[in-house]
Amino acid sequence: MFEDARIKLTAWYLVIIMTISGLFSFVIYHNINNEFRRFEKLSELMQKERVVFDGPFRRLQLPPSRIDLATIREARRRLVTALGLINIAILGIAGTAGYFLAGRTLRPIRSMVDEQNQFISDASHELRTPLTALKAELEVTLRDKRLTLPQAKHTIKDSIAEVNTLQALSDSLLTLAQYQKPNGHTPMQYVSLEEAARAAIKNVQPLATAKRISLIPRFQSVRVRGNPYSLTELAVILLDNAIKYSNRSDEIEIIVKKQGAAAILAVSDHGVGIPEKDLPHIFDRFYRADAARTKSAQNGYGLGLAIAKKISDLHHATISVTSKPNVGSTFTVTFDSARFQKG
Ligand code: ADP
Repeated sequence: MFEDARIKLTAWYLVIIMTISGLFSFVIYHNINNEFRRFEKLSELMQKERVVFDGPFRRLQLPPSRIDLATIREARRRLVTALGLINIAILGIAGTAGYFLAGRTLRPIRSMVDEQNQFISDASHELRTPLTALKAELEVTLRDKRLTLPQAKHTIKDSIAEVNTLQALSDSLLTLAQYQKPNGHTPMQYVSLEEAARAAIKNVQPLATAKRISLIPRFQSVRVRGNPYSLTELAVILLDNAIKYSNRSDEIEIIVKKQGAAAILAVSDHGVGIPEKDLPHIFDRFYRADAARTKSAQNGYGLGLAIAKKISDLHHATISVTSKPNVGSTFTVTFDSARFQKG
């Protein structure tokens, strides 16, 4: 598909370049040919009427009678050959350069399409497995001739829990797809980072309370250029993870501060931590560190940090992590100075 597009684009480059080159050649030929005609006429006049001319012929350093028609015809032929050769050379050079440029032009589109295809295949894979399990469970229950009402209710309850998880997965996929849109426009304004963090705390407070976890805010007043909804979502993801991967009765710090010319949003926990080998991958879609541990103990599909990364990118911020197993993790989002406004 991309090879076809590359060849078509090269062809269009060639059409444009060769049209311009052809026009130039025509103008050059036309003007020089006019001069040749003038010489032809002068030559005829000289031979017929024996008029003595000076001026242009003196410059040629030829006696007027020696400019014969054969010489002019030869000069015209050479001009046509030279112009033809120049156009062939331009065709060759423009073809090669055009093919190279077309490749470069299409490269970002190609990587975008590849990424979207990968996203679709990852998403369908993640959706298919639980859907198949759910279908199998319902079919087995339906075929059971001795099924009692309590058993049926139990299966339905389990299925609803599965559906809820799938719904959460599809919501996360939609959010991620939203942030992946190449031309997606997110309205930006100056936002209080502290307010975004407070909104996130309010959102996750029930989860923290359920695990008796204390959320400790350490806030300075900082404003950044961003989208209030997305920034709250970013803080919710980091806090939600911190709660998920913390032990009961732990403390989690959420920090908003100025650091030099930058603004910082950080979430620090004392939970299970992340093994060093997993650190480079945790922002990848569907990546879950130590899958056996996390999947059985915690629900999640490895999309949260991928969304957090997209939101950071959208704000031209960087997201980083420092972590040690069984000591804890700190996720830090750094907003650069150009988008930072003191509040
Ligand atoms: P998930 O839904 O699995 O939490 P995320 O994308 O949010 O997906 O996180 C990816 C992985 O990074 C998680 O599976 C977990 O192993 C690890 N992780 C993220 N945040 C933390 C944290 N605060 N403490 C320990 N591990 C974490």
